[in-house]
Amino acid sequence: METEKKEVIFKIKNLKTWFPITKGFMKKVVGNVKAVDDVSIEVYKGETLGIVGESGCGKSTFGKTVMMLEKPTGGEVLFNYNGEYKDITKFNKDEMFEFRKKVHMVFQDPYSALNPQKKIYTSFEEPLKTHGVDSVEEREKIMNRVLKMVNIQPDYLMRFPHEFSGGQRQRLCIARALEVTPEVLICDEPVSALDVSIQAQVLNLMKEIQKELNLTYLFIAHDLSVVQYMSDRIMVMYLGKIVEVADSKALYDEPLHPYTKALLSAIPVADIHHKKKRQVLEGEVPSPIHKPSGCAFHNRCPYCMDICKKEDPVLRYHGADGHMTACHLYDGSEVKA
Ligand code: SF4
Repeated sequence: METEKKEVIFKIKNLKTWFPITKGFMKKVVGNVKAVDDVSIEVYKGETLGIVGESGCGKSTFGKTVMMLEKPTGGEVLFNYNGEYKDITKFNKDEMFEFRKKVHMVFQDPYSALNPQKKIYTSFEEPLKTHGVDSVEEREKIMNRVLKMVNIQPDYLMRFPHEFSGGQRQRLCIARALEVTPEVLICDEPVSALDVSIQAQVLNLMKEIQKELNLTYLFIAHDLSVVQYMSDRIMVMYLGKIVEVADSKALYDEPLHPYTKALLSAIPVADIHHKKKRQVLEGEVPSPIHKPSGCAFHNRCPYCMDICKKEDPVLRYHGADGHMTACHLYDGSEVKA
């Protein structure tokens, strides 16, 4: 599929989410934690965009900001309303309420996402009531439809969350997210709290549902094998910035950025005859408050050059099919935000 023919659902431009650090009685701002720092990317309708990086790289904050659960410090998040792009960062309360029907989040811990004191029925009817489905009959019809999609029997609605296994609970969370027919699901580590044997079940179910409803997924995870299995494209983040974006296959077969290479070299290989050279990253992840000058990865990069300590590399296209990386090792055309 050619890049220009894909419909873009989100255009994210120069997105920043900074958390101020205050000091003293007057709460003077003395610095910022730059969790998301000037991120620009387009998300295509119907794709799964995997988002990877070490803990603290900003991937979860990015997901929450795209959904406006975190208020951005700067930048734009344009959402496609039948071909017209509207900046959701400027939405008023009513517009935001409508937007919330289109984008939902699936969280890591399915147990805390469901109120343990309420029956599943109550947890399922609340969002429908909020979004104006007043008829009990209509609500139950929707509940039954979404439960069927995740292979859970309708009579289980009268149970409490603790009566389900972890996998069933996550399936319930996915079903609840589907009630108001969203276009996008932002999945933040959706299977990392589950047993490995259950993970594949939930991932396959998510793929089936995506195909059936033409959903777009932003799939955030630290497990690179899971991300590879799920994603059409992958975006690698380091200290709040994108360092590489590519089709899943291209990224795993021919990663460009030294950080991506190091991450991929850490994936365990089951074949004992296949000896893989692991690249161990030197040094600590720098603080997002005091980022190193130039390329933020330079203190850990085995290829660091003089320019890397002075100039922050720009995300540029390199090679075919929209493969982009931000590294002075590569030349290419600059990505226009
Ligand atoms: Fe390494 Fe320089 Fe590339 Fe940064 S810009 S990843 S320091 S080679």
